[in-house]
Amino acid sequence: MLSYQHGYHAGNFADVHKHTALCLLLDHFASNKKIVTYLDSHAGRGFYDLSGEQSEKTSEWKDGFGKLTDQSITTKGLELYTQAVARFQEDHTATSYPGSPALTQLLMQDNHHGVFFELHPAEFECLKENLGSDKRLRLVYKDVQNHLADFMPNRTQDGLLLIDPSYEIKDDYTTIAKLATFAHKRWKAAVIMIWYPMLPERRHEDLKANLKGATFYELIGPMKERGMYGTGLAVINAPEGFDNAFVKAADEMKAILFK
Ligand code: SAH
Repeated sequence: MLSYQHGYHAGNFADVHKHTALCLLLDHFASNKKIVTYLDSHAGRGFYDLSGEQSEKTSEWKDGFGKLTDQSITTKGLELYTQAVARFQEDHTATSYPGSPALTQLLMQDNHHGVFFELHPAEFECLKENLGSDKRLRLVYKDVQNHLADFMPNRTQDGLLLIDPSYEIKDDYTTIAKLATFAHKRWKAAVIMIWYPMLPERRHEDLKANLKGATFYELIGPMKERGMYGTGLAVINAPEGFDNAFVKAADEMKAILFK
């Protein structure tokens, strides 16, 4: 039984890092005239309300996205991200925050496809309500570990696979590496991005050891005694220019968030 709900964490420093990388990758595909498939293995509810009960309870977004408002941004990555959130808020409310599905929906072309997996029943219902009317998107209420292959395009088609699990089950650190490796073999052309939390138990080291050919990007927050001290992304098959742009954006992020 899944209990994680991303609403408690939406817009936190890990989301800023991950969603900035996502915006850079979506931007890479933006001018692609061919069919592009965006597969999001762990979608959540699509978007969140930063003034809602869950966000209020943790206030995590205040140390993340909240610190970026009213800042002058200079890097392309952070600019794409903050502008995407601002556009989303104009279309929704000033306190809404787009998760990975809403960012993808916002930045994808009309002939591109999105496939979003979500297994938590209440989160899936919200996802359906939030994004269900867009014909470019397929929302899948299934366990991605067993059904990813059913929704993968052919191996040469362009696209992005975002793997962003909640790591509620300890085995996730090994099964996610297997899922990414399988996807890379089956869908050769895909850019694959895997998120992982950095916790004192350091289970992410097992995941990293089993992700061959990935480049790792890590953002370490201010020293704390408990909980998530950093956030990581593993990227396989990154497009040209991504590394440089994301490293610059992450440096700027660090200077603003942790000064
Ligand atoms: N990618 C989202 C956040 C996702 S949070 C964003 O950036 O906005 C992780 C989600 O994965 C949770 O909603 C959880 O219910 C879902 N999940 C966990 N295990 C899953 C599985 N095996 N298959 C599909 N979804 C799963």
